[in-house]
Amino acid sequence: MDLFEHQARQLFEEHGILVPRAEVTDAHKEAREIARRLGGRVVVKAQVKTGGRGKAGGVKLAADPAAAEITARQILGMDIKGHTVRTVMLAQPVDIQREFYVSYVLDRAAGRFLAIASAEGGMEIEEVAAARPEAVVRIPVDPAEGVTSAKAAEIADAAGLPPQTADVLVRLWDILKREDALLVEVNPLVQSAQGQILALDGKVTLDDNARFRQARWGEQAEPHDEELEARAAAKGLNYVKLDGDVGIIGNGAGLVMSTLDVVAGCGARPANFLDIGGGASARVMADGLSVILSDPSVKSVFVNVFGGITACDAVADGIVQALDEVRLTKPLVVRLDGNNSARGRAILDDRAHPLVEQAPTMDGAARRAADLANAA
Ligand code: ADP
Ligand code: MG
Repeated sequence: MDLFEHQARQLFEEHGILVPRAEVTDAHKEAREIARRLGGRVVVKAQVKTGGRGKAGGVKLAADPAAAEITARQILGMDIKGHTVRTVMLAQPVDIQREFYVSYVLDRAAGRFLAIASAEGGMEIEEVAAARPEAVVRIPVDPAEGVTSAKAAEIADAAGLPPQTADVLVRLWDILKREDALLVEVNPLVQSAQGQILALDGKVTLDDNARFRQARWGEQAEPHDEELEARAAAKGLNYVKLDGDVGIIGNGAGLVMSTLDVVAGCGARPANFLDIGGGASARVMADGLSVILSDPSVKSVFVNVFGGITACDAVADGIVQALDEVRLTKPLVVRLDGNNSARGRAILDDRAHPLVEQAPTMDGAARRAADLANAA
């Protein structure tokens, strides 16, 4: 997932990299207010996940708040390379003396990162590389070693960047590492007339495989999730947060994946999933259920177990244990099949909890769990 420029800017700011003051809006009238707050003169910037916005007319200087409103109205709704502009960022203009290019990008084939830097920033780096290949340096970064002050100084020196940029290079590496990014790019990184080094544009691409840790960037998940993930991991459970409302527990990756599909096919969206794995004990089941029930977005839970190495009676014992440990407030639909399923079903029947019901088939149970979630 790519972040918007304003989100990248926020990360830069949090990590101590200087950025111009800026605010985001989707309304041109508000752009006037923002420009006033920022001192009048502003750069109005289209927030779309594509580069070359400047050339496409999506980055414009406005001399005062009235001009900012007019410019924002022009840019909002504009189409830039197939992306419709829904929001603009208004930023304080920087008196630019020099523009540089810096980035870290994953080099998958080599199993490491590449630092790419150039003293000729501002333009698209591909153009610089094509016209003057010697002006772009590429330095491998070992992911285990990262970018130390010494490494940063080496990169800055090789590219002909001022020595003060080394500090920014170290901080950008911290961002890459902390946020699970595959790419962090600043173009331009500038030296202002006052001699400060500022990031004026940023692109950050996050690794979607680490999506469960990226709650804050929207599209899914809440801050709370990280805590649940940590709890699950501490108990050796594979828990993944999704954005729907049916909690899912299964044994084995294959069964869990097909359970997600069947629930989706029943018109509901999985809230998360947890794989208790093969040969799971009652304790594992009880722990898993307590993690799933702690997710506030869960409206119903579907436990889908096909007993092989995992015996269904152990799973049922785990559910009963969990019922003793946590107060069940959401309906639980259980499908037990395979090894010791008859004993497992009998254990749950005996417990007779009003919020626990059983269904003999995966499809039937999925439908029931979906209906319960949709009705909640
Ligand atoms: P893109 O790379 O999508 O064209 P940028 O944010 O890099 O968009 O903006 C294009 C150019 O506009 C930059 O290279 C820089 O020269 C100028 N620019 C961008 N933001 C500012 C700012 N806050 N102050 C001054 N100039 C800016
Ligand atoms: Mg740029």
